[in-house]
Parts: sequence; structure tokens; C-alpha cells
Amino acid sequence: MISDNRKIIEKQSYDLIVVGGGVAGIAAAVAASRKGLKTLILEKRLLLGGLATAGLISFYEPLCNLSGKQVVFGIAEELIKLSIKDGYDNLSNDWKNKTGEHKTSYSTYFSPTIFAMVLDEYLKENNVDVRFDSLAVFPVMNENVCNGIMVESAAGREFYPAKAVIDATGDASVADRAGIPTRVGTNYLLGMAHYTSRSLAEEYAQGGKMYKFRKWLYALDETGQQDKKVHEGVSSEDITDFIVQGRAAVLKKIRKEEKEEREIMSIPSMPQYRTIRRIVGAKVFDAELGKIYEDAIGNCANWKKPGLQYQIPYGSLYHNDFPNIWAAGRIISTDEDLGWEVARIIPACALTGQVSGTAAAIAIRGGYAAKDVPIKELQDTLVKDGVVIQ
Ligand SMILES: Cc1cc2nc3c(=O)[nH]c(=O)nc-3n(C[C@H](O)[C@H](O)[C@H](O)COP(=O)(O)OP(=O)(O)OC[C@H]3O[C@@H](n4cnc5c(N)ncnc54)[C@H](O)[C@@H]3O)c2cc1C
Repeated sequence: MISDNRKIIEKQSYDLIVVGGGVAGIAAAVAASRKGLKTLILEKRLLLGGLATAGLISFYEPLCNLSGKQVVFGIAEELIKLSIKDGYDNLSNDWKNKTGEHKTSYSTYFSPTIFAMVLDEYLKENNVDVRFDSLAVFPVMNENVCNGIMVESAAGREFYPAKAVIDATGDASVADRAGIPTRVGTNYLLGMAHYTSRSLAEEYAQGGKMYKFRKWLYALDETGQQDKKVHEGVSSEDITDFIVQGRAAVLKKIRKEEKEEREIMSIPSMPQYRTIRRIVGAKVFDAELGKIYEDAIGNCANWKKPGLQYQIPYGSLYHNDFPNIWAAGRIISTDEDLGWEVARIIPACALTGQVSGTAAAIAIRGGYAAKDVPIKELQDTLVKDGVVIQ
């Protein structure tokens, strides 16, 4: 039996700890901090944005229903604007200026590197503390109540006490280790990097667009089953296999071109799994058309089909037995089908992030468990903060 007898460094306490600085974690932390919570984001990597930046998924799926109607609002909209504030975009002027008829989609490419730097600023402006290179190892539980997060950092093992915790890890590792039931998803192998070439540079020099100059290179078919193996992302073996095979495919593809004719601009610094693990919450969001929830907290669109939108229930963000833990982003409680497909994209992740941060603030102020947060107060607060519940 091996035991760990290192001294635990006790850190300052927070009202709220958000684990994970992806889009969902950022929206959660900003929403909570704006409500006066002393808020910390723990991020194991060195930049904010998660899959959107470190994972090179630099395309903000639509905030509209692909038929001209905006469906997602609030911090999700702040973030799309921030994603292109200092970098390139391909968003049409009618959405930028909110004028005229919207014939295009409210979506855009963005620079992942510039967006990540802008996000540093955004957290600072919103009084959110952040610790990079800080791996949340496990939640410290007293029965089903989380008292804080144990962290591994350059200093060693640290404990951050907190009144509430939001799991925005993308793999529900905090929720899972707290004892909340979870489901593991499945993925096929994927290898995507950012690429450019002499011919793209020539096009750019002729007045071309930057988003076409910094191009996605899919080395494996997006839904490819090349290794016929299902990848789950819940072991270091699988993650290593997934990453190494993806990179090998990128290398194989570019080896077909002359060395002086092309360049890989970035490779992902996190695995591009679409799904890893999500909670089984009080409600399971299944994107049933026309379904009305009394605890609706906003809507998401269907990025594959025009004209559709779905209410998301608050119950998909928590488990009844865990009073001070919320899930946000791609780990909320969904089915394995359409519910998951429409809730995992960037705008929906930002929305559920904002909702979790707002709910945590109401819970802490009023002394409520996650399941007892007064729905009317939550909905009214969200609406006041720019969310539209349709
Ligand atoms: C191949 C692919 C293509 C996609 N295409 C699109 C697209 O075109 N448009 C779109 O809108 N969406 C797309 N998506 C989906 C979307 O990018 C993600 O679902 C979304 O960005 C997830 O955001 P998140 O904040 O929930 O999680 P993540 O982005 O996964 O963020 C989680 C963060 O938590 C951190 N973290 C995890 N564990 C710990 C820990 N223990 N301690 C500290 N930090 C931790 C991670 O480092 C990460 O920064 C795509 C996804 C994939 C994989």
C-alpha cells in the first residue's frame, strides 16, 4: 500500500470554485463574480478557452436557429463578440450590427490564440481569480457536501476551501469523484490541426481572408472509424493513444506535400474528444421539440437543421442529492443523441455556464441546495442578465 504523507498547503477560501477554464467555466465564473461571489477558476492547462482554444475548435456555432432568429443570448453572446474582438472573423455585418434581415448564420471562425489572450483580460475585468497549471485532483467531501478542492500544482498539494463548486471540466471528473452518477461517452479517432501553405498565403496576399489562411486540416475523417476502436478519454492510455494516432495522421498527410510549401501552425494541446463523461442529473435533456420545462433556463439551437430550438431545463445541471455542486458545459445531463449534440456546442456550453454561476450565487445567498434554488428567481435573474427564455 502506498500512502501520500506530503503536507497539504491550505489556500485562501472562495465562495465558488469553478474547475475548468473552458467556455462553460468562464461563463460560470463571470456570472457568479458579477453577483458578488469571490470566485476562482482552477485550470490544469496554461490557457483559457478549453477545446475552443487549446483544442483548436475555433468556430463558434450559431447563436441563431439558422433561419434568422437568435436563440442563445447572455454571456454566450458576449463571448462570441470577445472571440473576434482582436482577431479575424467571418461574421456577417447584419449580425454584427443587428440590422436588417439575417440571411446568414450568427456564427464565426475566430483566432484561438488571440481569443485565449483576450479571455485573460476578461477574467481580470470581471474580478475572477485564476490559477493555471493547477490540476483539481479531487473534491473534498463531507457526505454529499463539497468543502473544497484538492489541487496539485508546482507548489505541491494544495487545498482550496469553497462554499460551492462548479464542474466545468469537460469530463465531469469532479462530479464523478464526488460520487455523482455519470455516463461515459464514445468517440472515434480524430486528428485536426491548424495548417497553412504557400498557396493559401498567396490567396491571402491577394486580399484573402485570414480565416482561410489559418485553415483546419482534418487528417482523419471527422466521424472516421479508422482504428475501428471506440475511444473514451477516461484513462491516460486512451488519451495517449488518441493524441498520438491523431498527430501521426496529421504528419502522414502533410508528408505528401513539399516541406517549403506548407506549415502546421498549431497542434491541439488537449484531446479533441467530443464527449468524455457527463452527469446523470435530476433531469435528462433530450432536445424534444416543443417540450416546455417549468425550470427552463434558456434555449439552444440545432446547428444541423434550420428553424429548430429547444428549452434546456435547470434540472440537467445538478443531482438532487448533491447540494453544492453544479455541472456546466458539455458534461450536463443529456441523452446520447440529439440532446447531447445540441448542448455540447460552444454557445450552449456558455449558456449552461452562466446558469450554473447564477444558480450558485442565488444558492449561497439564500442558503439553498442546488435542487431548491427558487426557479422564478433564477429565471428572472437570468432574464435581467440578458438571457432570453423562449
Ligand atoms: C472535433 C470537435 C469539433 C467541434 N466543433 C465545434 C464547432 O465547430 N463549433 C462549436 O461551437 N463547438 C464545437 N465542438 C464542441 C465544443 O468545442 C466543446 O464541446 C466546448 O468547447 C466544450 O466547452 P466546455 O467548457 O464544456 O469544456 P472544455 O472546453 O473541455 O473545457 C474544460 C476545461 O477544463 C480543464 N480541466 C479539465 N479537468 C481539469 C482538472 N481536473 N483540473 C483543472 N482543470 C481541468 C481543461 O483543461 C479545459 O480547459 C467541437 C468539439 C470537437 C471535439
